[in-house]
Amino acid sequence: YSGETTVTATLFPGDGIGPEIAVSVKEIFKAAQVPIEWEEHFVGKTVDPRTGSFLTWESMESVRRNGIGLKGPMATPIGKGHKSLNLTLRKELGLYANVRPCLSIPGYKTRYDNVDLVTIRENTEGEYSGLEHQVVKGVVESLKIITRQASLRVAEYAFHYAQTHGRKRVSAIHKANIMKKTDGLFLQCCREVAEKYPDILYEEVIIDNCCMMLVKNPSLFDVLCMPNLYGDIISDLCAGLIGGLGLTPSGNIGDNGLALMEAVHGTAPDIAGKNMANPTALLLSSVMMLQHLNMNDKADLIHKAILQTIAEGKYLTGDLGGKAGTTDYTKAVIDNLGSS
Ligand code: NAD
Repeated sequence: YSGETTVTATLFPGDGIGPEIAVSVKEIFKAAQVPIEWEEHFVGKTVDPRTGSFLTWESMESVRRNGIGLKGPMATPIGKGHKSLNLTLRKELGLYANVRPCLSIPGYKTRYDNVDLVTIRENTEGEYSGLEHQVVKGVVESLKIITRQASLRVAEYAFHYAQTHGRKRVSAIHKANIMKKTDGLFLQCCREVAEKYPDILYEEVIIDNCCMMLVKNPSLFDVLCMPNLYGDIISDLCAGLIGGLGLTPSGNIGDNGLALMEAVHGTAPDIAGKNMANPTALLLSSVMMLQHLNMNDKADLIHKAILQTIAEGKYLTGDLGGKAGTTDYTKAVIDNLGSS
């Protein structure tokens, strides 16, 4: 990003509370004069045969064309004959790495005040290959696929992320003592990439030990890089360390810088349409999007205003113990833009 032109980004407001929290992001971006123009896409009402899901081909094209997008939560319609929306996005767009920064939020008290780590999850293979079958009655088999190509790609991303975000250490999380071939190959790829980054410390931690260390002392970790299923579990564990999924942003990264950022939580149907949703996770995801675009001034401006609003504690939504509506919180963030 050169700082001169407006960037077009795809926005999926999504379902449930999605549209409400997307309005919050749009209003804060407008107030912060962020040079982003949104191209909004909604989940379709019928299956598009070109994607096999309720997401249209035009929506996919929009992300591909713009190379950058922000996504609210989506409710996958119940019934057979279509693919999950999130899986469609991941597969169609080749989003091979999932990144979740987990940072303690001052003013929102949890067991730890000093969490500052990033999980990087391989997003395309492992136990998620969808290769399950029955061998004979009473015996089923699931295939875990690990490839050199996907492992090198996610390891490369993890080290590059560490280097460009001022982080010092990458820990590869594995169970290679048991899954010698699959996790063994994953580790081998991490080691190869680590050699290219002598300034970044590299370590290998067995997943069960990693869980124990994380809950005892999260500051033992910096960047964690993992195969798919371990990443799924550990990234939620880390979200729990900072106060839950409502506060956690994430990014899905593909080739050539393509990125789709998203809130980690779901559509919250119990509070949808009631002006009760907390937009923080989607807002922090939008901050990640700005960082990805090198719009760091705008990212910092919005990030500081969010943290200040939460630290002041006057306009917190119900999930954080307050009484404010989505719109009150949004207004408070806007009032705090540039005030610290
Ligand atoms: P959920 O995250 O929607 O809700 C769990 C609880 O957290 C609810 O009580 C909800 O009110 C609360 N909550 C979640 N986000 C909040 C926010 N921003 N502010 C305040 N409170 C919030 O999980 P669920 O109920 O298991 O799932 C509901 C739907 O969302 C399902 O259809 C599911 O498939 C979908 N889902 C989508 C995604 C996604 O698109 N990435 C992720 C998870 C779930």
